Amino acid sequence: MKQDNKNLIKLIIIMAIICFLTASGVMLLVNHSDQDKHTETTPVQSEHPTTDSVTTLPDQHSTRFAHVTDAEKITRLPILMYHDVQDITTSNDGNVLPKEQFEAQLQYLKNNGFTTITVQEFVDAYNGKINLPPKTLLMTFDDGFQSIKTIVAPLLQAYDMYATSFIIGDYIHRPDWHLTADDIQQLQTNNKHINFESHTYNLHQDGVSKGLINEVTTAEIIADNEKMAALLGHPIQIVCYPFGAYSDHAIEGLSQAGVPFAFAIHSGTSSWTYLNDTHTNSAGEQQDPRALPRVRINANMSIETFAELITDN
Ligand SMILES: [Zn+2]
Repeated sequence: MKQDNKNLIKLIIIMAIICFLTASGVMLLVNHSDQDKHTETTPVQSEHPTTDSVTTLPDQHSTRFAHVTDAEKITRLPILMYHDVQDITTSNDGNVLPKEQFEAQLQYLKNNGFTTITVQEFVDAYNGKINLPPKTLLMTFDDGFQSIKTIVAPLLQAYDMYATSFIIGDYIHRPDWHLTADDIQQLQTNNKHINFESHTYNLHQDGVSKGLINEVTTAEIIADNEKMAALLGHPIQIVCYPFGAYSDHAIEGLSQAGVPFAFAIHSGTSSWTYLNDTHTNSAGEQQDPRALPRVRINANMSIETFAELITDN
């Protein structure tokens, strides 16, 4: 009886070892076939990026420009200002670009080797953490129009370009013209080619063109910014001044609110943002990170004019 028990225990141990070895073998085979799959698909992906690989790009952005040397990096950057894009052929409103015109600009950027960047890449470049290659620009869209969802974001995805939309918090309840909170959330989840920042929560009001951000208290600027951060689900990196109107008071308020950058409205090729160590422009003036200029892109502008505005001479 005792001997039988010993044999039984031996048998169980042998069975257990066989089971373990079989399972290990299967796992090795599974791992091996995974590796095969990986080595088979990797070269294909790098030659022909799929939509999936494009949408996961922002997570890798800290390394996107790792190859750009200090000698190659740009020291000034155009920040383009757009508003709306509509499915029309010509426009009477300088702020409303015909879709064809916007698409022609994206095609021009693609054909001529331009790079468009995310908010995080802008922040990292401004702070000297990454180098940007020649022909880099930052595209921005004011007011959070519905066309961001219906026209702009799909085109950015198709051309593998990036842009930033400045949302007015108060306007998210105007679904006929403006993005809703739901639209913003869905775009943030599904389309990494569009970033969202603040055009203030309720300091951009109809019929008030002097810019309320210059009138309210610092505490109100801070509270406004907190509402916008809650809406967008992340700390605000950039505030776009309503109507481009800013003052020392507004700059100080945003500084107190912890907002590192703010964009105004200027025009022309001299209106670029200086990325050099001292952020000093060609006139020797130091740029304020909370009063950075932008290059206005007007409707019906020729592609030659567009090219001129984004070329560093
Ligand atoms: Zn605006």
